[in-house]
Amino acid sequence: MAVSEWEALIEEIRSCRKCRLYKNRRNTVPGEGSLTTKLMFIGEAPGAKEDEEGRPFVGAAGKLLTKLLEDNGISRKNVFITNVVKCRPPGNREPYDDEIEACLPYLIKQIMLIKPKIIVTLGRVSTKTLCSITGLHFASMAKVHGSVRIAYLNNLEVKLIATYHPAAALYNPRLRLVLEKDFEIIAKVYRENLRSNKTYTLLDFFGKS
Ligand code: URA
Ligand code: SF4
Repeated sequence: MAVSEWEALIEEIRSCRKCRLYKNRRNTVPGEGSLTTKLMFIGEAPGAKEDEEGRPFVGAAGKLLTKLLEDNGISRKNVFITNVVKCRPPGNREPYDDEIEACLPYLIKQIMLIKPKIIVTLGRVSTKTLCSITGLHFASMAKVHGSVRIAYLNNLEVKLIATYHPAAALYNPRLRLVLEKDFEIIAKVYRENLRSNKTYTLLDFFGKS
């Protein structure tokens, strides 16, 4: 990826006024992490802490997300984390459809630049949005969470995995268990993907006897 192309995109988001959410934001939250990762996480929208810091998932839900990653041997800095909309909705309401639509070109551009192999959607808003742009069916979170589905975005093939939003699991022990199980699946698919991309030499096959 051309770094300048990425920087231009972040700059465009920073000065964006394409929907009403620009009016109340303190900072835009474009996302953060590795730009060469195979694994991308998409949440819903920045909350108060994210708006304050200009970074995604840094509040209570973010702490849980970081823990779920670390418990499965994945470091936050090795994945990319972003949201469907890049500015905080007032009072942490859900983003409206027209706000999602206005912001979507940024998310799609981010996906096309990073080209992840696996996309994890956190919660209903993100899952519905990704299903909608890839033409996959969305029934309910209960039905789709934890399953791995192949999706196409332009020419990019990705494994799409939906799970619950960490914020929903904060005060719900039952959901927390479901989320933990889903993250085991996510980590397994991620490890398989890293392995399958390894380039083998003849020594790998004949070196050990
Ligand atoms: N919830 C989200 O969906 N995204 C964040 O960045 C923080 C909380
Ligand atoms: Fe622009 Fe997205 Fe922020 Fe709306 S939410 S102002 S579309 S960056």
